[in-house]
Amino acid sequence: MRVTTHPITNVPGKPRFKYVGNMHGDETVSRQVLVYLIEYLLSHYGAEPRVTELVDSTDISIMPSMNPDGFEKATEGDCVGGVGRGNAQHIDLNRSFPDQFDPSSVLASDAPEVTAIIKWILRKKFVLSGNLHGGSVVASYPFDDSSSHMWSGVYSKSPDDALFQYLARTYAENHPIMGEGKPHCTDDPNVEFKDGITNGAKWYDVQGGMQDFNYLKGNCFEVTFELSCCKYPLASELHTEWNNNREALLAYMEKVHIGVKGFVMASSGMGLPDANISVAGIDHNITTWIFGDYYRLLLPGTYNLTASSPGYLPKTVNNVAVVEGKATSLNFTLKDLSEEMPAPEPPASPVPTTAFAPTDQSLDNQGASPPAPSVQPQDFRHHSYSEMELFLQQVNSVHSSITHLYSVGQSVQGRELYVMEISTNAGIDETGKPEIMFVGNLHGSDAVGREMLLNLVEYLCSNYGSEALVTRLLNSTRVHILPSMNPDGYEMVLEDVRYSSNQNTDLNSNFPERSYEKNFAQPETAAVMDWIKAHSFVLSASVIGGMIGVKYPNSAGSTDEALFKTVTEACLVEYSSLQMSEACDFKHYVSAGPTAGIDMQTWVYQNTDSLGFSIGLSCDLYPEAEDMLTYWKQNHRVLLQFIQQVHFSVRGRVTDVQSGQAISNATIVVDGSKHQVHTSNSGQYWRPLAPGKYELQASAPGYTSVSVSVTVSDTRVEQVDIGLTQEHLSQPADQLEEEEFERLLEDRSSAHGLEQLIQSLLPAGTLRYRTYREHSEFLQALTLNFPHITRLYSLGHSWEFRTIWALEISGSPESSQPTEPKMRYVTGVHGNAAAGPELLLEFASVLCINYGGNPTVTKLIDRSRIVIVPCVNPDGREVAQEEKCFSTAGLTNAHGVDLDTDFLYGSLSVQPETRAMMDLIEGGGFSLSVNLEGGSLLVTYPYDRATQPAQSEETLKYLASVYANNHPEMHYGVPGCKYGPALVQGGTVRGAEFSSHSGSMKDFSMDVALCPEITVYTSCCLYPPAQQLFLLWEEHRMALFAMLLELHKGLSGVVRDRKGQPVSDAVVNVNGSVFVRTDTQGYFHTLLPPGTHQLQVYAQGFQQQLRQVNVSPHQMASPLLIEFTENSTHFSQEVVLAAAISIPTVLLSSLLIWHFRSAKFNRCRDGVRWLRRRRDDLQMEAIVSEKSPLRQVFLEESEMCREERGWAGLLGQQRTAQ
Ligand SMILES: [Zn+2]
Repeated sequence: MRVTTHPITNVPGKPRFKYVGNMHGDETVSRQVLVYLIEYLLSHYGAEPRVTELVDSTDISIMPSMNPDGFEKATEGDCVGGVGRGNAQHIDLNRSFPDQFDPSSVLASDAPEVTAIIKWILRKKFVLSGNLHGGSVVASYPFDDSSSHMWSGVYSKSPDDALFQYLARTYAENHPIMGEGKPHCTDDPNVEFKDGITNGAKWYDVQGGMQDFNYLKGNCFEVTFELSCCKYPLASELHTEWNNNREALLAYMEKVHIGVKGFVMASSGMGLPDANISVAGIDHNITTWIFGDYYRLLLPGTYNLTASSPGYLPKTVNNVAVVEGKATSLNFTLKDLSEEMPAPEPPASPVPTTAFAPTDQSLDNQGASPPAPSVQPQDFRHHSYSEMELFLQQVNSVHSSITHLYSVGQSVQGRELYVMEISTNAGIDETGKPEIMFVGNLHGSDAVGREMLLNLVEYLCSNYGSEALVTRLLNSTRVHILPSMNPDGYEMVLEDVRYSSNQNTDLNSNFPERSYEKNFAQPETAAVMDWIKAHSFVLSASVIGGMIGVKYPNSAGSTDEALFKTVTEACLVEYSSLQMSEACDFKHYVSAGPTAGIDMQTWVYQNTDSLGFSIGLSCDLYPEAEDMLTYWKQNHRVLLQFIQQVHFSVRGRVTDVQSGQAISNATIVVDGSKHQVHTSNSGQYWRPLAPGKYELQASAPGYTSVSVSVTVSDTRVEQVDIGLTQEHLSQPADQLEEEEFERLLEDRSSAHGLEQLIQSLLPAGTLRYRTYREHSEFLQALTLNFPHITRLYSLGHSWEFRTIWALEISGSPESSQPTEPKMRYVTGVHGNAAAGPELLLEFASVLCINYGGNPTVTKLIDRSRIVIVPCVNPDGREVAQEEKCFSTAGLTNAHGVDLDTDFLYGSLSVQPETRAMMDLIEGGGFSLSVNLEGGSLLVTYPYDRATQPAQSEETLKYLASVYANNHPEMHYGVPGCKYGPALVQGGTVRGAEFSSHSGSMKDFSMDVALCPEITVYTSCCLYPPAQQLFLLWEEHRMALFAMLLELHKGLSGVVRDRKGQPVSDAVVNVNGSVFVRTDTQGYFHTLLPPGTHQLQVYAQGFQQQLRQVNVSPHQMASPLLIEFTENSTHFSQEVVLAAAISIPTVLLSSLLIWHFRSAKFNRCRDGVRWLRRRRDDLQMEAIVSEKSPLRQVFLEESEMCREERGWAGLLGQQRTAQ
């Protein structure tokens, strides 16, 4: 497992580290400990600065088992081992490497494991490595054998003996047992190792060992670690072993960064692979890797280092100081032996010297190391064509991992029109990465753009990986830079032969006004036109002199005018002294030759997907070198800002609704603009738009066009994915499936349908009381075993920092399918009601185990989103006492708050557990919720607070009765408990009548999310004995499933306008009271009791619609299609007849899938949305007045969101600062 940033590519400046475990198949501890290490690195990356820095700066490879065949033969619990030590041919792999004293004679076919490892070692040139074994507890370092091969006692010293001792000690002293040096293993109880380390040969002679091969042939320092006396301990020991080794594993890895590191380059700047690095006094050389990069591990001290490579003059640097900690940087530039004349000094090292700084400042919250200052370009001078060519080639070879140099064509005189693309994976069309381009030197005399763009190339390359902004830009954007579009003209200027040639056309006026006029374009113009058309540059700019400021094409009367202005303003902020164009004197610039065309930005805007700009960086056209330095310093941030602007686009994918496949070359147009953009091969498009409301239309040949409204704000990026439906295509398959599900639901809802389902289920049999930790492990195990239908995530933490888990079970847990109804099962609000958490874990297990085998369960999971929160109050649960039926220990959270009184909406000081649940409820879009409690045997429905009955009480009572009726006793209405009511009709009661209190979770769910929630009191005893758990499960499982069936009943539908566009936020009013709103797809779902209901559907700007619907107790909700007509002058309240159309058909024919995605802002947006919705609702009910505290809450919430906007938000702020 390779763990590093950019794990697919090789990146210069990252040393390579490896761990190899389980080389002896019977020595198994390392095998699992290395898996834990991988998990640890991945789960702490981005959260813990130490791990983040290690993973960012190191190319880590972890091989948990080098001998998987041997392992299969070994037996758990066998401490002595032997069986499974060798591979399948009984070859001891750690005796089969070529040996310095006796070359190995093992055949490759006998030990393919060794052959594979040798290849890997030679190819990757690892810098440091650990080889993990078992059978003792000690770190053993080279050499492993001596020429005498005395079986023990001969100290066989390597040239790097002191360093090896240090490396071995690093591991040993971080391991609690190894560091003691007294492993007390039974086979050799008296052996002791000073500091827990030993020379390999001194301990015992190993011929053909792996670590010596690594050191002598592989450029790699390897130490062998023996992790435990017992070779194959019981699995229960593994956790302890991980704890023993964790710190040692990490500390040892970090040592890959000690010593001296750098590059060996030719004078051209090209890295030299396989160059030798020797250290005076140490008879062991290492060599450079493919980029010419080297890492020489050394202890603190002063050294003389020599770099040499065949064909070059060796170079020695004396007195190189190595200090504790990070490696000293030292680059060598070697002179070619064939160079007779002394070459001019190459530009100062373009190699990043700060590659190990964290790339994101926010990760560096300990402030240990300040953010690295950006490396400024050094090379301020005029580059002739050949100098420019050399410069670009140098950069391309040194920074090959992020650059791609290509030519778009040739000039009249045959010079290449070079483009440098800079991006991670440059040259590859990557999903989600917009492209942007810069062109310079359109006029031969305009040298500013040319030089500034060369500086930009250098700046981007040398700051990637160390400067946060540059790193982010190159990670997310493909930047194409054409420094000189007119190299011929430039050379003429350089030779001071201005305008003497015939070919002196002003290329910036050479773009044809209409496409058929292309033949008058100069070859340079034609090449650039083809280039621009072949790419989908979202933005493009010519960088020029003779002006300070930003110009854009005439777009008067178009919606694009606002966008051009927005981008321009954002860039103008970055000019350090905003002189604006009036400061420039244009007289010295004389346009030459024919000007029968239009300028580039206009051509780009009118003829391509791109939006064109001109960015002026200086009044001078051909300044002195020192002035260029000034212009760069003053204005280079304009160029960076321009790159960032590309991300303020509406973006998304256009896909085929049926197949989900990308549609390439689909056209996206915006109302009010003629400018078109097209989708890439992966179906992606970018459309920059200024803040405002727009209509976006997507079309493609053979598909029905779709229009969507989109609101662009200046604080976030809108993702609008659009699904297109092929014209004339029916969906028989989906309809069949739909009918099948309807039948299934009907069957299961009939007299004995549910009982049959319960009988057919495979039992999970996991019931027992679990501690918090067991509980968490169980959930994790469940998701590991059922990764395709489960997703486990944290809602937040309790006071004592226990995680409040949510387990989602659905057919597609990773994607959002808003049309699948969503169900919530919650328990453990009161920690002393301990049965609920176990019942829900069992329920989750049964769902998972039966998925794929049981058709009903499979269909239910595929078509629902089930979210289980198995313990809201883990702190309380932890202190509850078993078999205490009436104890209040654990009722509250760790701060003594009864969480079921804490759901006070609008309150900013709720408990963390409450906040976690509130966030879930607010953002969730749930249609139904069941909360398990204890202490009685009944079901309560909203409200818990003493108030008027809920307007939808009929529905709520019905839902509660569904649960009670599917419980063998509850519906008799005789709880039979010591406390509480003796008689409850039907087993259901309004919450306020059972135990009146305010701030309850179900009231919050009703008020804020319009989601009905019922509370089930599972049994009289709060914490029944463990042996009663199974009985409880038997009593409740049918009711739990019944609620899941209920989820698919009720009423659902889609509201759209006459054009087929979904109408979001339409209000569906049922029987004059219950109401629900449509989501962004125009979809709504609400649960209703069986019977006839009157529907009233209204939305702003549309005529109201009236409907009458029948809800059956056995049947699935028959989806409605409600089509609005615009509110016109001839008002009439017509009732539109609609056929009962199934959900998928409605959605497919609505032609559209779209959703907003904006990960960072989701929470804020949802928060604001519910507040807004809530506010509207309250106003509608005429309950709230202006004096209500709600307004204040709304403002505070918005304030908070502004602070959380992050990177994109910052840009927005700069914009608004304008
Ligand atoms: Zn071993």
